[in-house]
Amino acid sequence: MNDKHIGLIYAGGTIGMTLTAQGYAPMQDFGDALARLFAAAGDTLPRYTLHEYAVPIDSTNATPQDWQNIGRDIAARYNDYDGFVVLHGTDTMVYTAAALSFMLQGLRKPVIVTGSQVPLGVARSDAAQNLVTAMQLAASDAINEVAIYFNQRLLRGNRATKVSTERMDAFDSPNYPWLADVGIHVRFNRAALLARADTERFELPDYGRQSVLPVRFVPGMPTAAVQAMIDLKPQALILQCYGAGNAPDRDPALLDMLARASAQGMVIAACSQSPHGRVAIGTYAAGAGMTAAGVIGSGDMTFEALFAKLHHLLARGLAPEDLRKQLLRDLAGELSA
Ligand code: ASP
Repeated sequence: MNDKHIGLIYAGGTIGMTLTAQGYAPMQDFGDALARLFAAAGDTLPRYTLHEYAVPIDSTNATPQDWQNIGRDIAARYNDYDGFVVLHGTDTMVYTAAALSFMLQGLRKPVIVTGSQVPLGVARSDAAQNLVTAMQLAASDAINEVAIYFNQRLLRGNRATKVSTERMDAFDSPNYPWLADVGIHVRFNRAALLARADTERFELPDYGRQSVLPVRFVPGMPTAAVQAMIDLKPQALILQCYGAGNAPDRDPALLDMLARASAQGMVIAACSQSPHGRVAIGTYAAGAGMTAAGVIGSGDMTFEALFAKLHHLLARGLAPEDLRKQLLRDLAGELSA
């Protein structure tokens, strides 16, 4: 374990916060607190070098630009370390993890993203457990992908979703098995882990200028609400449909507006409001017209992975037709065949 060297990136989140008069905010001496924790774990942990961001953020404020900064930092230091741990807030952790998986395709070492529900040093905090285990996992030869470690679960980053604001098991991956179950022993699910690629295929296009907007259907929603989103002219629109990818079709205006937007080059993807299962547009007559309107079903991708993937493909500058095809290709284990 000791001969491995881990790059530890501290981007922000509850894990490094302390209670102030205004509520939780980043603590001053987080680096020292980490050093004390890791020293107590002794030689069960690999060596590490801490890269603290000048302004650690609450991940609620994260933007695609922040995803990109982390991705580029890892890429720039890739050869200096045997693995990486990224400390991040839980609120948007899965978006960042998914985006990292698209930037760092063909990874040949672990990138483990973690955080905590309760800050380090607070009674009953989950931070120490998550941190120590994430460091050990980052030194493992079995992992060649971006994964989230949280409360005894190792999950594929682009398959995870935050399922609880309160429980210590804040994340799950409804459409993909856990990569490892971590109790007294670490039990890897070898069949679920990505195999080590022959070579890295990093893609680090400029993030930040893409516009992807979501529309969540609710019963009785006026179609004008969808039109209002389309009028904002995003490059891509995500329809958060019901069940297997169904959208209300009593008002034909909806399909017309979607067809017009698609014809004008807007990429429109449908996902499901149900976390488990896949989208199969046309299973029900209601919504079957969406395919003709150019809407693409997103298979079993999570909403967060779909959002990050759209950003990534748009950043690559793909034309709408190519982008629609790429969206249905599995890039980093985010989509089942
Ligand atoms: N709001 C915090 C964040 O996402 C929550 C957390 O870290 O758990 O940064």
